[in-house]
Amino acid sequence: MSEINDLKKKLAMSSRMLFNAGLVDYSGHISARVPRSDHLVILPHPVSRAIVAADDMVVTDFDGKLIEGKYKAPSEVYMHARAYKARDDIQSVAHLHNHMVAVLSMVDQPFFPASSNPGAFFGPGPLPVYMDPALIHTIDQGDAVARSLGKGDAVMLRGHGSMVVGQAIEWVFAACVDLEEAASRFYKASLLGPVRVYNEDETRRVMAGRRKDSVVQKIWDHNAAKTKLAGLMEGIG
Ligand SMILES: [Zn+2]
Repeated sequence: MSEINDLKKKLAMSSRMLFNAGLVDYSGHISARVPRSDHLVILPHPVSRAIVAADDMVVTDFDGKLIEGKYKAPSEVYMHARAYKARDDIQSVAHLHNHMVAVLSMVDQPFFPASSNPGAFFGPGPLPVYMDPALIHTIDQGDAVARSLGKGDAVMLRGHGSMVVGQAIEWVFAACVDLEEAASRFYKASLLGPVRVYNEDETRRVMAGRRKDSVVQKIWDHNAAKTKLAGLMEGIG
């Protein structure tokens, strides 16, 4: 199987897994950089994230222009395209309308790492927030989101959701799962009182034990099994 076909299949799997985990619905997408090029592969605009297949994927350049595919690219492809343009280390990007992260983005309170399993894929310090609530439909808006992301792994989009980046599709998937669970715990804890947020040293020690290929693979395999059990892994291509 060629490298790009392998990426398309893995994106189709991860989309169905994100759907099964409740992290995307009719919207939201995950993409991957085409190695050694200025192109990316991403889910198409119109196909359900629950049934999207490898052959449905589209290729765009880093200006969001369609290069290959039978469908149009998602309208917010600029978020992905400009993140790859801004940072050579990013190999995969997800944009989620994840519920609890969107909720936390709506309050004037920083979202810090504060629980050890979920939450170790970002930090130290609070998650950055991109404050413009408009959808990301231009190159300039994509560049602005990339600036808010900085050198980090995720950025909250105020009243909207998040963008998560990483070194591989599996890493981004694991970070998406972690981020939403961390947000859910942070929200519940904040209802009870001031949250005991992790300081920089605590965050770094938690991250050292958590940000590993073996942990990422465990999160991926568990969610792949759950998605298969739900009957959503047929016909990936
Ligand atoms: Zn969006």
